[in-house]
Amino acid sequence: MLAKARESLRTACDQLNIHPDVFEELKWPRETLSATLLIRMDDGSRRAFKAWRCRYNDRRGPTKGGIRFHPNVSLDEIETLAFWMTFKCAVANLPFGGGKGGVCVNTKELSQTELERLSRAYIEAFAPFVGPDRDILAPDMYTNGIVIAWMADEYSSITGQASPSALTGKPLAFGGTVGRVDATARGGYHALRHLENSLEIDPDKSTVAIQGFGNVGYHCAKLLHADGYTIVGISDSSGGIYDEKGFDPLAVMQHKHETGSVQGAKGHGKTRNITNADLLELDCDVLVPAALERQITLENCDRVKARVILELANGPIAPAADRKLTEDGRIIIPDILANAGGVTVSHLEWVQNRSGYYWDASEVADHLKKTMERETQAIWALHNEMKLSMREAAYIHGLRRIAESVEARGTQA
Ligand code: GLU
Repeated sequence: MLAKARESLRTACDQLNIHPDVFEELKWPRETLSATLLIRMDDGSRRAFKAWRCRYNDRRGPTKGGIRFHPNVSLDEIETLAFWMTFKCAVANLPFGGGKGGVCVNTKELSQTELERLSRAYIEAFAPFVGPDRDILAPDMYTNGIVIAWMADEYSSITGQASPSALTGKPLAFGGTVGRVDATARGGYHALRHLENSLEIDPDKSTVAIQGFGNVGYHCAKLLHADGYTIVGISDSSGGIYDEKGFDPLAVMQHKHETGSVQGAKGHGKTRNITNADLLELDCDVLVPAALERQITLENCDRVKARVILELANGPIAPAADRKLTEDGRIIIPDILANAGGVTVSHLEWVQNRSGYYWDASEVADHLKKTMERETQAIWALHNEMKLSMREAAYIHGLRRIAESVEARGTQA
């Protein structure tokens, strides 16, 4: 995946006449550490888990990015996600570079105590890499505020200091910020809303399908539903549901809490079960992939019907499919813009931790809205002026800022 990401970077560098130093610097991660975490399981046995942390590029500031716990995590995936974080932070104009971490684990097979030991072991392994001015961690897939709290606790034991700003996405009672839980979804929602007029979307007449019903998918469904959109399809890792008359996201979440799956939840009409693959091909106006990478590929992209795709997941569309969909006139609001709300509010958490002064919910919400609208507008304008896809425009927008910071430091470094 990193090789593909590098190809798009090459194109963007050529298009913009960027100094060759910049491409050279962004070709590979600055550093990636790999470790094996040895965990004592509840039954007394010992298990080994592969883990990584990548600091891709830190020209704009300390590296920033989440930690993913997933059975398919690989070195290439972590480095690619860290590359995307570098651009995402630049797109949102945050004083951060990009990083990412992960553990190859299926959290559904672990007890709470095993999960806690794993989270603490992760920090122990990577502590020299971490720090408020070096590498700042956050949640990602299958890691949440609880995992981050264990990690933050372990980090302060190791350093012998309260260092809340080394990790963001913490619970409120442990130095977290208001507004972080739904920030990723809310950021994507602001990006979409900002483009409603340009894209001629009328929420009251528009249908939405959402792949993934974790934190991001759920909050996105709630926000769009409240604005009048009809949520006709929802899926999670165990399958999906479709109802032409729409769903109430709250009721679906309640069902998921009770049964572990969205399947079986009732919508307002004749609800039927669908697969995750079906969900991507539903007849709808807006498709929101909010789960894993590479869900839309050359194999299924011809069957995708949505006119607008809001990428709340990282990398849900494979590059070849992205080209085809773009040629076909679809508007893809790219991940590095659409899901930048999470890291934008993470930045506010870091700022609050460092200053010791905490903002109220409306201040956080206003800042997020302003940031998303400003950057969405800039990227939309570039897309129109330079006749680029929104993804190309977003990369160019971020690349300009990264290139400026590389060049500003001088050429003899
Ligand atoms: N994991 C999230 C992302 O991919 C958030 C990262 C952060 O807050 O640092 O954007």
